Amino acid sequence: MYNVDLIIIGAGPAGMSAARRAAELGISVLILDEQPVAGGQIYRNVDRASAVRSDILGKEYTHGLALTKGLHHDNITLLKGAVVWQIEEGTRVAFTQNGTGALAVGKRILLATGALERPMPLSGWTLPGVMTAGAAQILLKQSGIACQGAVLVGSGPLLYLIATQMVRAGVPPLALIETQTTRDLLRSMRHLGGALRGWPYLVKGLRMLWELRRAGIPRHVGATGITIEGDQAAQAISFYIGKSAHRIECDTVLLHHGVIPNTQAARSIDIPHLWDAAQNCFVPECDAWGRSAVATVFIAGDGAGIGGAKAAAFAGEIAALEIAHDLEGISRPDRDAAARKLRKHLAIECAARPFIDAAYPPYAGAIAPQDATIICRCEEVTAGDIRRFAGLGCLGPNQAKAFGRSGMGPCQGRYCGLSVSQILATANNISLDDTGYYRIRPPLKPVTMGELAAMAASEINEVKE
Ligand SMILES: Cc1cc2nc3c(=O)[nH]c(=O)nc-3n(C[C@H](O)[C@H](O)[C@H](O)COP(=O)(O)OP(=O)(O)OC[C@H]3O[C@@H](n4cnc5c(N)ncnc54)[C@H](O)[C@@H]3O)c2cc1C
Repeated sequence: MYNVDLIIIGAGPAGMSAARRAAELGISVLILDEQPVAGGQIYRNVDRASAVRSDILGKEYTHGLALTKGLHHDNITLLKGAVVWQIEEGTRVAFTQNGTGALAVGKRILLATGALERPMPLSGWTLPGVMTAGAAQILLKQSGIACQGAVLVGSGPLLYLIATQMVRAGVPPLALIETQTTRDLLRSMRHLGGALRGWPYLVKGLRMLWELRRAGIPRHVGATGITIEGDQAAQAISFYIGKSAHRIECDTVLLHHGVIPNTQAARSIDIPHLWDAAQNCFVPECDAWGRSAVATVFIAGDGAGIGGAKAAAFAGEIAALEIAHDLEGISRPDRDAAARKLRKHLAIECAARPFIDAAYPPYAGAIAPQDATIICRCEEVTAGDIRRFAGLGCLGPNQAKAFGRSGMGPCQGRYCGLSVSQILATANNISLDDTGYYRIRPPLKPVTMGELAAMAASEINEVKE
C-alpha cells in the first residue's frame, strides 16, 4: 500500500503543476493516471510524439513537455495506467494497475480529473462512423491516425482546433457544420471587455479561422435540424441553415459542442455540486483554494469548472500551496504571497471564458433531443423514454434508473448523466439544481473480479486493521 502526504488523481496540467509545486515544498506525492503516459487531454502522449506529429498538433501542445519533465522529482511517484475506481473517507484511494488492484492512503487528495466532451445526442449519433471530435483527436495524438473525409459538427474553439490539426495532417475535413448563431455572437459582445483582456485567445481563434478559410474548408454556421443518415453506418448528414436544407455525403461524423467537468469522482464522495448556467453544466462546490466540502479533498483544473489548460495549471498550483500549508510545508504569508501571483495569472486566463461560453453555447437540438434519440447508450434508453418516466412521476435521474435502467451500464452514467438531468428538468419544469444528477457509486470505472482477487493479501489485511 502506498502511504503519502498527497494523492493526485489525474496527470493533466492541473495534476502535474500541483505535483511539482507540492513536491518542491517537501510534500510526498503519488500521482495516478489511467493513461499510459502523463499529459492529460491536451498534452496526451507529448513525451512520445514525433516532430511531425508535434508540428501538426501545434506549439501549445509541446508546452506540455515542461510539465511532464517537472514530474521527475524525488518527492513524486507517478503511476501510469492506474485507474482509480474508489475513494473512501477522503484519504483512501483504490485503483487498478497492470491487472492488479492496489490501495493508496494520503493525508490529502487532489482530484484533477479534467473534462469530458459534452454528450451530443442527435438522430443517428450511435451509428458506426460517428464519434466525438475529441476521440478523433485522441487517435491523432496517441497513434498518429487521422480521420479521412470527415464532417465536423457542433461548436466551440476545440472544434476549430481539431479541424486545423486535420488540415495540417493532410486530411482536411469535408466541412464544418456549426451550431452557434449570429444571435449568440451578438449576445457574447457584452463580454467583449473580458475577451480583450484575454486577447491571446481571440488571436488564436482568428488564426484558426483564417487557416480553415485558406484551406478552403466550407463552414455552415447556424445549423439546425441536424440528422445523421444511414442504415448500418453513417452515410450522410443533413441540416438546415435558415430555411434552406443541406445534405453532405460522408461516412465519418465528428461531434463536439464543448466540454464539461468530469465530476464522477467528486460526486462519488458526495461533494455538493451546483448548476452553472453560463457553462451549462454542474460544477463542484469548492473554495478559492480548491478545497471541497470534504476537508481533505481538493479539486483543481477543468474538473472544478472549465477554464482551459493554462488556468488548470495555475489552479493546480494554488491547491498545492494550500495543501502544503495544511501539512506545514509552507507558512501562511509565503502561501499567500505565492498564491497572489498565481491568482493574477489565473484571472487573465479566465477573462475570455464568459465571451467564449456565450458565443459557443451547446446545440439546442442536442439539449432537447427528439424522442427517438438514444440518450443512455449502455442501456439503450431514448429521450422519449425519459420524458415518459417524467410523465409517470419520475423527478430525478436516480429514479430514472429504477424506471428504465438509464445510467446503470458500464460507463456509470458518465456519458448520459447530463442529458438525462436536462431532459427531466425540462419535462418536469423544475430547475437543474432541484433535478440533480445520478448518485455515483463505486466502481467509478469498471474493475474485474480478477483485478480484485490479484490484490496483495497484505493490502487487504491493512484495510481490515
Ligand atoms: C477529448 C478532449 C480533448 C481536448 N483537447 C484539447 C486540446 O487539444 N487543446 C486544448 O487547449 N484543450 C483541449 N481540451 C480541453 C483540456 O482538456 C483542458 O483544458 C485541460 O487539459 C484541462 O486540464 P486538467 O488537468 O484539468 O485535466 P485533463 O488534462 O483532462 O487531465 C485529467 C486526467 O485525469 C485522468 N483521470 C480521470 N479520471 C481518472 C480516474 N478515475 N483514474 C485515473 N485517472 C483519471 C485522465 O486520464 C486525464 O489524464 C480537450 C478536452 C477533451 C475532453
